[in-house]
Amino acid sequence: MNPSLLNITPELTASVADKTQAARTLLAEIARDFPPVTFANSLGAEDMVLTDLIVEAKLPIEIFSLDTGRLPLETYDLIAAVDKHYGLKLKIYFPQAEEVEAFVRNHGINGFYDSVTLRKACCHARKVEPLKRALAGKRAWITGLRAQQAATRTGLPLREYDEGNGLEKFNPLADWTEKEVWAYIKQNGVPYNALHEKFYPSIGCAPCTRAISPGEDIRAGRWWWENPESKECGLHVKG
Ligand code: SF4
Repeated sequence: MNPSLLNITPELTASVADKTQAARTLLAEIARDFPPVTFANSLGAEDMVLTDLIVEAKLPIEIFSLDTGRLPLETYDLIAAVDKHYGLKLKIYFPQAEEVEAFVRNHGINGFYDSVTLRKACCHARKVEPLKRALAGKRAWITGLRAQQAATRTGLPLREYDEGNGLEKFNPLADWTEKEVWAYIKQNGVPYNALHEKFYPSIGCAPCTRAISPGEDIRAGRWWWENPESKECGLHVKG
């Protein structure tokens, strides 16, 4: 969906108000009951909503992002815009240089196009390993996942136990629609990635993300050469 074309109806305003209140309540409960808690801000539209809710409520929730080294320029601009808008410094985690160097030496700079196995190996070095460091010592983490985003996310709960990382995982926007996310962003003047205006509803690394056509699945532009069932980067593995 192109956010510029969003029509904010009274019904949409009402549903956003209800879900915003529910998300505020849940976030406050998570901060109270599961310290230390961290929010994995992937810089997507949903994550901008959560950033706004966490910062505005001054909740003691750390906010971090992963810089894979292959992000689009627009995403770096968004990191700078978020820092400026909210007066904070997003905590950025980078990959371990040795892991990335080994991948590139063995498989080439764009080796991730050659097979699902190599794509997942690149995602592991650039995303999964840094995520594990970011989650170390935390009791809970928060994500901006929504159930409607992908075939791999159907039935996504608000709360689940993350077996792989050994802590609670909360998805406060699990039941939000794409329109509700954008209505919140527009109504609250929240910064967002300029690529969303260019038919990029879901944005990851530059070489693994492309624009979609009207009517296509919102994650069709991510790893577009793979089957929908394999399209996760390993950050969100079902237990
Ligand atoms: S999305 Fe692409 S470039 Fe980014 S870590 Fe995964 S395979 Fe590598």
